[in-house]
Amino acid sequence: MAAKSQPNVPKAKSVDSVTNDRTASQGQWGRAWEVDWFSLGSIIFLLLCAPFIVYYFIMACDQYSCALTGPVVDIATGRARLSDIWAKTPPITRKAAQLYTLWVTFQVLLYTSLPDFCHKFLPGYVGGIQEGAVTPAGVVNKYQINGLQAWLLTHLLWFANAHLLSWFSPTIIFDNWIPLLWCANILGYAVSTFAMVKGYFFPTSARDCKFTGNFFYNYMMGVEFNPRIGKWFDFKLFFNGRPGIVAWTLINLSFAAKQRELHGHVTNAMVLVNVLQAIYVIDFFWNETWYLKTIDICHDHFGWYLGWGDCVWLPYLYTLQGLYLVYHPVQLSTPHAVGVLLLGLVGYYIFRVANHQKDLFRRTDGRCLIWGKKPKVIECSYTSADGQRHHSKLLVSGFWGVARHFNYVGDLMGSLAYCLACGGGHLLPYFYIIYMAILLTHRCLRDEHRCASKYGRDWERYTAAVPYRLLPGIF
Ligand code: NDP
Repeated sequence: MAAKSQPNVPKAKSVDSVTNDRTASQGQWGRAWEVDWFSLGSIIFLLLCAPFIVYYFIMACDQYSCALTGPVVDIATGRARLSDIWAKTPPITRKAAQLYTLWVTFQVLLYTSLPDFCHKFLPGYVGGIQEGAVTPAGVVNKYQINGLQAWLLTHLLWFANAHLLSWFSPTIIFDNWIPLLWCANILGYAVSTFAMVKGYFFPTSARDCKFTGNFFYNYMMGVEFNPRIGKWFDFKLFFNGRPGIVAWTLINLSFAAKQRELHGHVTNAMVLVNVLQAIYVIDFFWNETWYLKTIDICHDHFGWYLGWGDCVWLPYLYTLQGLYLVYHPVQLSTPHAVGVLLLGLVGYYIFRVANHQKDLFRRTDGRCLIWGKKPKVIECSYTSADGQRHHSKLLVSGFWGVARHFNYVGDLMGSLAYCLACGGGHLLPYFYIIYMAILLTHRCLRDEHRCASKYGRDWERYTAAVPYRLLPGIF
């Protein structure tokens, strides 16, 4: 919203008085048009390897009690062949296919057919019809924000089933975990392929499509910016949030139920993982309107990276800690548990407050207090592909004055807390913090590249005022 010229917002400085003179940035701050060899190599590597990485982790839990080196050692020493491991892997089943179809259909129905009512009675919650940010082509999309409602209804049903209805066992997700993986892959590939074909033949907004001329890059990073079916079914909002993130907390609950079934009790580590990750998930849905202004929605096109990533990578690899704790029921000492809880909560606090500061600043056009003071501001401007000049502001106070992406630091602290909850027995639960560190460092560089192209000299003024990206004095 902040990046748009709005009638209800006082105009920032006139274009002439703004220092950004890089008109070459017009329409070029979206996704890349040209692909360098490094990007192409990384993309082909990910397309080929990511499905196997997910399989490897889940199989290592299933067949080797989460010992990541187990399969490699067995193959290297001749104790097992690849075909033996594959033969022991559960195949797709009719039950899993039915379950998965039911799940996705239910989430589609909640998304498309139930306009939000939570915003009518929850004070402070922003739901219902909301506007996204201005796209590189100058389009402003409207979204039906009803993720919190979908999450609440889904979890109400889950608890009603567990305590009253008994239609299915709460361990159902764990019990079908590998067969469901095949279903998630089918959906992930189907939706990414459909999005690619749609981008070429019947795009929602042709002006926001990008074709690099490289098939793999287009497939991975997406052609269409905001593919839609009808007026409201937005692929990015649906696949980013549901079915993956709504499922995240249910998957953890199912793992907790399995731990109880196998070991007779739920450990404090499992409770911590469930609670800390539930805070993150509920935060996501409570702030779904804010999410419209994040890079996923404002910058990334919809391709395999988001389509397959949301269907497979996120639900399978973000939940590794809970899965690990089914096989290793870690019970933490009280100081260890308290330490993990504190790290998780402090991380969440930084993550939320930093994101809130930017959101508040942009929503109020800088007319707000950050840490009790009027915020310091850098006025900036940019041009969208339709040639229109827009004004915006960069916040230099609060966490945005500490480092240019301190919100990522909070996220990393929270991620580390989930991993530390699993103790030091195995490497597998630590995959998440390693992955998040790579993801967010790369994202930080990607975002800075984008902002530099978008704001030109104004961005340079910001980097001069706030010299560090993540950690003051270090990076
Ligand atoms: P940000 O919320 O940091 O958004 C970056 C954008 O904010 C920039 O492109 C720019 O957009 C604007 N901006 C940058 N600096 C300033 C400033 N000083 N003042 C005002 N606006 C500024 O990035 P993300 O969307 O990546 O992340 C959002 C949250 O989601 C983060 O906390 C991150 O940790 C989390 N996340 C979690 C992931 C997960 O898998 N768990 C994955 C990705 C993110 P503009 O064009 O509007 O100026």
